[in-house]
Amino acid sequence: MKILVPVKRVIDAYVKIRVKLDETGVETQNVKMSMNPFCEIAVEEAIRLKEAGKADEVVAVSAGPDACQETLRTALAIGADKAIHIQTDADLQPLAIAKLLKGVAESENPDLIILGKQAIDGDNNQTGQMLSALLGWPQGTFISSLDIEDDSIVITREIDGGLQTLRLNRPAVLTTDLRLNEPRYPSLPNMMKAKKKPIDTTTPETLGVDVSPRFETLKVSEPPAREAGVKVDSVDALIDKLKNEAKVI
Ligand code: AMP
Repeated sequence: MKILVPVKRVIDAYVKIRVKLDETGVETQNVKMSMNPFCEIAVEEAIRLKEAGKADEVVAVSAGPDACQETLRTALAIGADKAIHIQTDADLQPLAIAKLLKGVAESENPDLIILGKQAIDGDNNQTGQMLSALLGWPQGTFISSLDIEDDSIVITREIDGGLQTLRLNRPAVLTTDLRLNEPRYPSLPNMMKAKKKPIDTTTPETLGVDVSPRFETLKVSEPPAREAGVKVDSVDALIDKLKNEAKVI
């Protein structure tokens, strides 16, 4: 079984985001970048399937500028066998990414594509769903467990008020939720080995995909500053404020 894992390079989850002064986006210059946390979970799950003898090959793929190769090296250090870089400096939107990934899926023929449920930069939560629709493959979104059974896949999804278990035919598109696994840190020897693993390069033009934007970002602004809280002397004072000031009871 072959698994394709799309990984995105995003601002590191621990960096405090700063909005650009002209409100066109967030500051990315001289900011630490890392693999999107949900993509780390996707790579980890693919590697676990390989270690369990249920997958033979794990291929990581990333679309974006040259710096994406660092993210691909991380995937290779975690255990992916090879990587594909879709080189472009274009500002990629989810539909364009889904079309690019479809192109890669058609040449790589994976049995499974495991994406993150969302990238923590745009919080789009769209790419996996669009990819499954474009390919016409079943989708299992927000999965918290995954089991391979012969030709099918059994997944658990976390939904409001409970868990939903589904059986999907292969090939399928899956997206990872936080509780699927705890990703490992790549070891130093594996980081060294990753330097020798292959990264193939392609482009949107080679894949025949028009990546022009479908929507325009009008403005990115800081969230409103939180107002300072007040201390009340008694429960009665609290109830009075909730009733007459906040008007929530
Ligand atoms: P999004 O729909 O933007 O929230 O992203 C969901 C998932 O799609 C990510 O966790 C990745 O697995 C994949 N993805 C998004 N952007 C890219 C990209 N530029 N290259 C590769 N995979 C991506």
